Amino acid sequence: MKISKIGEFGLIEEVIAPEFRELVNQHLTGIGDDAAIIPIDEHTSHIYTTDMLIEKTHFLRDKISPYQLGYKSLSVNLSDIAAMGGKPIGSYLSIGLPKDMEVEWVEEFMKGYKALSEEFHVPLLGGDTTSSEDKIIVNVGVTGEVPAKNIKLRSAAQENDVICLTGKVGDSAGGLQLILNDLPADNHAEKLLDQHLTPPPHILEGLWLSEFDEVHAMLDVSDGIASDLKHILKASAGLKGIIELEDIPMSDELIRQSETYQWNPLELAVSGGEDYVLLLTVDKNQYETLAGKFREQFSRPLYKIGYLEKGDTRIIYLKNKKEMKDLKEGYSHF
Ligand code: ADP
Ligand code: MG
Repeated sequence: MKISKIGEFGLIEEVIAPEFRELVNQHLTGIGDDAAIIPIDEHTSHIYTTDMLIEKTHFLRDKISPYQLGYKSLSVNLSDIAAMGGKPIGSYLSIGLPKDMEVEWVEEFMKGYKALSEEFHVPLLGGDTTSSEDKIIVNVGVTGEVPAKNIKLRSAAQENDVICLTGKVGDSAGGLQLILNDLPADNHAEKLLDQHLTPPPHILEGLWLSEFDEVHAMLDVSDGIASDLKHILKASAGLKGIIELEDIPMSDELIRQSETYQWNPLELAVSGGEDYVLLLTVDKNQYETLAGKFREQFSRPLYKIGYLEKGDTRIIYLKNKKEMKDLKEGYSHF
């Protein structure tokens, strides 16, 4: 059977994870959330995450600068730490490089990696360096820590929670469209390209939100809200998601570029990936107060995009209260 038949998540759930289920000690949380959790004492846990970027699958060498790639390689991992409500402690960088690459390329890559490391005080603690036949391969791991009571699991969503986002979505997918179709970058395009090539991780937002008990489940949007919300629905069981499409937050730049190039901005916002904002579910009675405090803290809204109901793990998309059926799913490898 070809792996394309079961897809990325089928492969993880049916082939990779089951082999190890009985080896996972009951105190640990392993495969299935944004990061693994290892309690170090009754108050604190360490969290671990790793993510790989492969040339031609995740980036094109002539469309991303080495600085941007260095930044992004760390950022996508910090984003998973943010999703758990954690604080990053240190990172590990493994890199495979074709022999004919310039040292200057690596210097620039490390400058980008370091800029983000400094911003969140995350030292590089180790890694591995190897040659690769022809593609650049980057794998980063990050260790973080979180007070046990603040951990935000995908499985903690509750009936009647509202679904929120810590930022706008779709810019990164718009940036990718510009790159793949070689479209000229005007002023509006810049923001989309930046969001795709150097997405800032929502570490501060994750840390801040993790202090609130009314924040239930949380994850980062790496594959698109459509795909990522499903992870919460599957892990929390017995819930369906209702998304109100008119409430999906999108940038003016995305709307303008969509008009220019005839894109469907909603499709990019819902199904396009790599936004790296956080998606969380919040007790509906606490939402208004929390959103007010969030605005004070971060000077932007905590965007409410829908709610959860008792149901069967589906997502229902409403536009002006009417169901829309033809939206694309999010990204999955294979
Ligand atoms: P994320 O997008 O948050 O990085 P993924 O969708 O990539 O998460 O992975 C989902 C879960 O499966 C995570 O808990 C991840 O650690 C786990 N996972 C993915 N690939 C593997 C693998 N090859 N071996 C073990 N666990 C894996
Ligand atoms: Mg994640």
